[in-house]
Amino acid sequence: MAKISINMKSGELVEEELIVGIDLGTTNSLVAYAKSGKTNIVKDDSGQNSLVPSVIHFNTQGEIIVGEAAKKNLITSPERTIYSVKRLLGKSYADVKNAEANLSYDIIDQEDQLVKIKIDDVFYSPVSLSAEILKYLKLRIEKHLGRKISKTVITVPAYFNDSQRQATRDAGKLAGLDVLRIINEPTAASLAYGIGLDKEKTETVAVYDLGGGTFDVSILRIEDGVFDVLSTNGDTYLGGDDIDKAILNYWVAENNISKASLVDDKGLNQMLRLLAEEAKKHLSSNAHYKSEDGSFTLDKGTFEALVKPLFDKTINCVEQAVKDADLKVSEIDEVILVGGSTRIPMIKSGLAEYFKKPIYDELNPDEVVAMGAAIQADILAGNTKGFLLIDVTPLSLGIETMGGLMDTIIPRNSKIPVSAGRSYTTSVDGQKNLKVAVYQGERDLVEHNRKLGEFILKDIPPMAAGMPKIEVHFILDADGILKVRASELRSGHSTEVKIKSQYGISEEEMGRMLLDSIKHAEVDMKAKALLEAKNEGRSIVLSSNKFIKQNAEILDPSEIESLHSHMNDLNIAMNGDNKDAINNAMNNLNEFANPLAQRAMDYNIKKALEGTSLKD
Ligand code: ADP
Ligand code: MG
Repeated sequence: MAKISINMKSGELVEEELIVGIDLGTTNSLVAYAKSGKTNIVKDDSGQNSLVPSVIHFNTQGEIIVGEAAKKNLITSPERTIYSVKRLLGKSYADVKNAEANLSYDIIDQEDQLVKIKIDDVFYSPVSLSAEILKYLKLRIEKHLGRKISKTVITVPAYFNDSQRQATRDAGKLAGLDVLRIINEPTAASLAYGIGLDKEKTETVAVYDLGGGTFDVSILRIEDGVFDVLSTNGDTYLGGDDIDKAILNYWVAENNISKASLVDDKGLNQMLRLLAEEAKKHLSSNAHYKSEDGSFTLDKGTFEALVKPLFDKTINCVEQAVKDADLKVSEIDEVILVGGSTRIPMIKSGLAEYFKKPIYDELNPDEVVAMGAAIQADILAGNTKGFLLIDVTPLSLGIETMGGLMDTIIPRNSKIPVSAGRSYTTSVDGQKNLKVAVYQGERDLVEHNRKLGEFILKDIPPMAAGMPKIEVHFILDADGILKVRASELRSGHSTEVKIKSQYGISEEEMGRMLLDSIKHAEVDMKAKALLEAKNEGRSIVLSSNKFIKQNAEILDPSEIESLHSHMNDLNIAMNGDNKDAINNAMNNLNEFANPLAQRAMDYNIKKALEGTSLKD
């Protein structure tokens, strides 16, 4: 039955809900959709190619070119042609600096910042570059369907952490997409094969994904329609590109081509790389390769000898993944192949032999992830019945801590229902009340986020600062209702409030909040570091005062004077906005105070041993 919806603003009829699936790959990306239970991968105008190379070229006229047309510039214009941007998503410079030598473009080199890519004098974030690929895919499918789309499901590797997933979502937003769900690539591949659609069945699946530049293997347990990742393993620098390089090196040796001429002649290098890839693909269904002009040849035996070391490496990873999942190889029920490089017959047969069972390879291995994403999208659209939809929180939820910092308790994209808690304490001696202010949003300072409510935890028994144990617990139910409970554990006092988190916020407002958090990430990081330094400084001044009071009898007047002077320096620094100055002043104070603290401790221990009671 077709669904008919009405646009409440215009009163016009709108078409049936369509959610599209996107495989945003390191080497290639694809877009797909499901209609009447059938999945379709959207092809280019020629109707030949479904893969969009994940390559972005910035030409000298300031235009941005994506896909096949961009790929042509990889070798001739490497500094303006970005590939493998997925590797940089959600990463800081410190995370990727060791891999920098492998990149032919410039990345920004400041340790505490998110990676940026430099072209001419402009810096681009991996999020905005990924958004360019997504925009291209959005245009492709809109042209194909003849209508606008916005809702999507995007896939990511199972090993992606929260910030990488977040970055993927942010890229979607930036491309004008509404990312309803991020799902794991191996989960999508299983769905494409219909695994997990039968809720009665419990299965253990190994998904082997050998793409262009990365290899990963995931072991999944599927029970009641829920996909659990038991383990993942792999190598982020192992894939089809390495096979191309091995073939190229073989030809260079065979034909006495000097390495220097390859470096000098980018055109020659590019031609050989493309020929090598062509030979590799040709040998998946033929026994012999010969280039058109006859000067480069490769037979299957030689090719397989070149692939063997790479295959062996992947098997080591598989072995480790199976072990980490606490399983034996014989306990794996199904094996699924993903990634263009699994088209190589030797890899297929090698795996069948290793697992001692036939493997799933009927679907195009470079399309299965996109197909699965489209199936998941169709389930979300409500076109497949009997599936429980697990929803996620659109924005992070947290409370305000010292200095106006946002402390996230439930991160965005958490599956709901969810509950999470965190412990806090007081910052002042004898503090009786604690204000708990609840916020929603992604910025580091609460003033930029959205306040949902606040309440006061009263009657905390008088204790020294840092002694009370206050637990703040968030419970978010399936309807988006948030319950916040604060309890002082030593006294048992607790207060609870109910807040509706999702209501009263429009899609636009949510989008704006997310964009703001991306736009201000750097400024926020700096402001946060300054506030944290100030908080730490304040607590050091407090404890230094206490220390002087308690140990006056064993300190020299000159030592007390110096302590005061260091504390004074710190106070002055804290009045300013220079984080490094505050940290310096803290270090100076600590360095001076540490030997004194040691002396005080020795003195107190000695006194205790003599039978005199310890000071409080
Ligand atoms: P990713 O997931 O990294 O984006 P893909 O799954 O699209 O990448 O895999 C791309 C890789 O697959 C490339 O190295 C390409 O050369 C390789 N490939 C595609 N077809 C074949 C084939 N018939 N035989 C061997 N390798 C292939
Ligand atoms: Mg892939």
